[in-house]
Formats: sequence, C-alpha cells, structure tokens
Amino acid sequence: MPPRKNLIANFWSKVAKTEACWEWTAAKDRKGYGKFWDGSFLWLAHRYSWKLHFGSIPRDAMILHKCNNPSCVNPNHLYVGDNCTNMLDAIRAGTHSTPYIRKLDDAAVAQIRDFISQGKSHGEISAICDVSTTTISRIRNRIIPYGDNRRPPQKRF
Ligand SMILES: [Zn+2]
Repeated sequence: MPPRKNLIANFWSKVAKTEACWEWTAAKDRKGYGKFWDGSFLWLAHRYSWKLHFGSIPRDAMILHKCNNPSCVNPNHLYVGDNCTNMLDAIRAGTHSTPYIRKLDDAAVAQIRDFISQGKSHGEISAICDVSTTTISRIRNRIIPYGDNRRPPQKRF
C-alpha cells in the first residue's frame, strides 16, 4: 500500500533541499543518518526516501550515499549497494575501522565476479571484500557457484 499523503508531507517537512544534498533536519542517529517514524516502523530517512521514489527496497539491500553525507535524502545521491560495494565506499571515505567478518552471499559472489571481469587483481579484491585470495580463486574457477557458497567446497573427484 502506498504511504498516506500526510505521511509523505510530514516526511518532506523535515527536509531542507539544497542544489546538492537534501538535508534531514529532524532526529538523527549517532552516525548522522536521519530517522523517520512512519507510524509503525522506524526508518532510516534515506531508505524511506528511496522507497518513496523508487518503490520497495530489494531484500537485504543497503541504500548507500554517493555523496557520503549520511543525513542526505536526495534520491539522486542514493544507490543500492551490496556489502562489497559498501566496503569499498567505506575504505574510500576512511570510515572502515573494524574487521569485517561475514558469510559470502550471492550478491557478494556476483560482486567479486564483477571485480574479476574488470581486471582487478585478487589481492585488490581480497582487500576490498575481506575474503582470502583462495576464496577468490574458487569463485573465479566456479568451485563456489551461486547459491552454493555457504557450504564448504566439496570433494570434486
Ligand atoms: Zn547528498
């Protein structure tokens, strides 16, 4: 169901639009992300803005800022990213500080394949995605296919 009209008006009443970023002027979390209560769910404001403009957010997807401004809700400054993309952005922005441990999901495997096809070295991809070069080789050689990467590699012969 689309959001109610007055809810949308309420959302935009908290936004100060500039030529570039659209600043969230109401409550923010400690990292500077806007917070918006829609009556039943507390949203990060930039995610809500994405939903208003582009529809529902792909499952588990992160909505990221091209402008590195957490309080910005300008849809033109937002994009859908996966974990690896986010990691790369965090490194660029200098905000990556904690070890990043996660399981590889299909999106991450797809992202690593993209990096390989772009000609990035295994060392580079390893640094970006925090996976071993061995894992990257396995992905390249399709020992870890889509949907099957949560299992340890099986004996092949
Ligand atoms: Zn912005």
